Amino acid sequence: MPSYHIWTIGCQMNKADSSHIASYFNQLGYIPVRSADEADIVVVNSCVVRHSAENKTANKLVNLRPLKKLRPNLTLLLTGCLVDSNIDDLQRKFPYVDLFLQPQQWDKLEQWAESRGLSKHDSQPSPAHTPISAFVPIIQGCNNFCSYCIVPFRRGRENSRTIEEVVCEVEKLVDEGCREVTLLGQNVDSYGHDLPDSPHLADILTELNGIKELKRIRFLTNHPKDMSHKLIQSIAHLNKVCEHITLPVQAGDDEILQAMGRNYTAEQFRRLVEQARSVIPGVALSTDIIVGFPGETEDQFQRTVDLLREIRFNTVHVAPYSPRTGTIASERFKDNVPMAEKKRRREIIEELQESIATEINAQSLGTTVEVLVDGQKKGKGQGRTRTDTLVFFSDAPNCLGQLVLINIEKTSPWALQGNALDSKA
Ligand code: SAH
Ligand code: SF4
Repeated sequence: MPSYHIWTIGCQMNKADSSHIASYFNQLGYIPVRSADEADIVVVNSCVVRHSAENKTANKLVNLRPLKKLRPNLTLLLTGCLVDSNIDDLQRKFPYVDLFLQPQQWDKLEQWAESRGLSKHDSQPSPAHTPISAFVPIIQGCNNFCSYCIVPFRRGRENSRTIEEVVCEVEKLVDEGCREVTLLGQNVDSYGHDLPDSPHLADILTELNGIKELKRIRFLTNHPKDMSHKLIQSIAHLNKVCEHITLPVQAGDDEILQAMGRNYTAEQFRRLVEQARSVIPGVALSTDIIVGFPGETEDQFQRTVDLLREIRFNTVHVAPYSPRTGTIASERFKDNVPMAEKKRRREIIEELQESIATEINAQSLGTTVEVLVDGQKKGKGQGRTRTDTLVFFSDAPNCLGQLVLINIEKTSPWALQGNALDSKA
């Protein structure tokens, strides 16, 4: 049987795109294999949000060159945010790549398959390919143009899928065994503004909440300037929608936030968090931070640290600023914080967050948490709480895809550990 292998780096949207490509190749009769060495088609799904990700993608492509030399019949396909509308440079750099696809250029993929005489089989991909927890894109692209960010240049403007299309995809996934969906968008709060009747994210959540076998619903990413009271209310009132919000603040200083083009102040962010916490009891919050943005002084950095210490997020993802060619920040501002200083600032935040997460997770010691089991082997299992904390447990045979109650006996900054008590349908 012909086979394919997909290498993916980057955000959840890339993971969702890789799943789409996988199910497309499954329908063409290809089987997935673990390594590029054994594959007839190798897909590289790239990320360029920071220089480090772009570098890893370039290394991957360079490393695939000898394989392509050895087996000229191997098809090499490059997709993801490295692929711009103009592919001349990429073709020059990587002439041995057979096909360049911009993110989600599915029509081009299908044309390529047709030109090779490949056609979809009617047979459905086997349920074994459907994960317990799946990503479902609801809105593509971004209209925001935060000054540092390359995403809108590579993924284009906002384009929402209809509610019917999303619900239909989720129903199919659930039929195949999926029990949790995470709805994806660069800014899920702007879902629907480009559709007739302007549906709201809360409308999708309400529809999905009614799918019987679906157990949990998540979504990301929210934008602090757009997150609405209506959405906060629906998280509080819809029983399957999990109490977890991904709300990237990026910085705690107003001048930096303004230079980033984020369109909110630290005070407005604080009020939004207060509002969410007062309406949704026990809500967990995750955030992203960029350190060493052009011109960021020690005092300005301290305002970010103060904000993190005050808000106490459950998880924080921190990255050193990386200038991206073509973005407003890289054109207008000098990247004047040295790398060593960016790394120092990142470490300060990581240490602070480790101590906060240690304390937050320690509060679960001796309590019972509800976990959706998404992995299991020999009586040991793992899953996540509604608030997205990873839990490892023992003593629960055959409960993949089920909600299980776990008694927590040990905690760390990264996960909880315990024993299963019971399983619910
Ligand atoms: N749409 C989301 C996520 C965008 S990219 C949002 O609005 O936050 C994911 C994260 O990568 C961002 O939250 C940001 O923290 C980081 N990021 C994006 N561009 C970056 C850059 N040029 N340098 C460093 N980090 C960056
Ligand atoms: Fe990038 Fe800002 Fe859009 Fe997020 S909201 S994808 S950070 S431009």
